Amino acid sequence: MLSYWEQKNFLDYDLIVVGAGFTGLSAAIHFKSLRKKAKVLVLDRGVFPTGASTKNAGFACFGSLSELVDDFWTMTPDEVLQLVERRYAGLKQIRKEFGDKALRYQSRNGFEILTEASLKTLDELPGINRLLKKLFAKEVFSQVKNIKKLGFSDQVKAVVKNRYEGELDPGAYLNALWSKASKMGIRILSGVTVVEIDQDSGRVIAERKEKKEIFEFKGNQLAVCTNAFTQKLWPESPLEPGRGLILLSKPIAGGIPWKGAFHLDKGFVYFREVEGRLLIGGARNKDFEKEKTTEFATNPAIKAHLQALAKEIIFPEKTLEWEMEWTGIMAFGPKKSPIIQAIGKKTAVAVRMGGMGVALGWQVGKEVAEVLSDM
Ligand SMILES: Cc1cc2nc3c(=O)[nH]c(=O)nc-3n(C[C@H](O)[C@H](O)[C@H](O)COP(=O)(O)OP(=O)(O)OC[C@H]3O[C@@H](n4cnc5c(N)ncnc54)[C@H](O)[C@@H]3O)c2cc1C
Repeated sequence: MLSYWEQKNFLDYDLIVVGAGFTGLSAAIHFKSLRKKAKVLVLDRGVFPTGASTKNAGFACFGSLSELVDDFWTMTPDEVLQLVERRYAGLKQIRKEFGDKALRYQSRNGFEILTEASLKTLDELPGINRLLKKLFAKEVFSQVKNIKKLGFSDQVKAVVKNRYEGELDPGAYLNALWSKASKMGIRILSGVTVVEIDQDSGRVIAERKEKKEIFEFKGNQLAVCTNAFTQKLWPESPLEPGRGLILLSKPIAGGIPWKGAFHLDKGFVYFREVEGRLLIGGARNKDFEKEKTTEFATNPAIKAHLQALAKEIIFPEKTLEWEMEWTGIMAFGPKKSPIIQAIGKKTAVAVRMGGMGVALGWQVGKEVAEVLSDM
């Protein structure tokens, strides 16, 4: 039961954002920048954001060589360029906005490992570099010369470097978004699940299940930024969830002979060094159907596959011990581009980050704020 004061002060807003991940917080910040006096509320069901933003690998990436080669099967060259441009622009903007120190950004380059099966990708390297010339001052991809010193197994036949990729700490990025939102007077309420929205009136029904509490908020406008979990609020949304698993080793004795953000298997597998540990994740392609889920749980087959890659390809000479594992949920669809559109008189969505929300979230948040402003 709410008091008169609570009803008067806490329920009505100019904008209510559902979802407090990278995209939702970015949308709130950009909207508030456009309309300084607006009352903005962000709601999230988790105490911390509970989707992908604080569960990812922290690759500040825009597509490995083989991923981009693969994209040409489903997209035109212009579409591939647009996608890379949007992702890279997103990365540049967050670095400019928050600074490398706050993001714990490391410019250690991106790399892709090619085995016998994928070696032919090298033939495409000059052509892709030529195409990307429109966006980058220097050649993006180059072949690493001395790969022996990296300590990988003999199965690794070539390594391709991407000079424009880096790594960040996703928790630090979220902290930076929290600080900015709080300085701007944006209210964030966590631990409340939105169970219903009215896209035309801006009514939002939210609940705190364990306390059996129901809240009815009213937004002059709504932004749905719930990525993989959007179908509950917008059932016809053209997206499906894709779960991602990450394993973190204990610190590795004798150190790690490489640094940077590594891709493998057309970007489905990724690994990096985190404070002397190996972080490895992905491999959803090993069990696509089972991984189309919003449930946070480990698929044992995928875990075994990642552990085998770590042992057989990355550290053939070392014995690894594992410290932690976790999962997060992404959103995919028939197209790799995000959905940013109005879905009612008062509501817009910004969802389907396609597994690259570190780069996309800020820019997509900006675009949905503009859509709302024009409505
Ligand atoms: C394992 C893994 C590794 C990844 N690695 C990378 C990487 O290295 N680089 C990269 O660019 N991207 C990576 N990604 C993808 C990236 O993390 C996502 O694209 C990005 O975080 C999406 O941000 P978002 O804000 O759109 O969604 P989310 O972070 O999922 O935020 C959605 C929020 O909505 C909330 N929510 C959902 N439903 C409701 C509801 N009904 N009521 C209230 N709140 C609700 C959720 O709790 C959640 O906090 C990875 C993802 C995973 C899972």
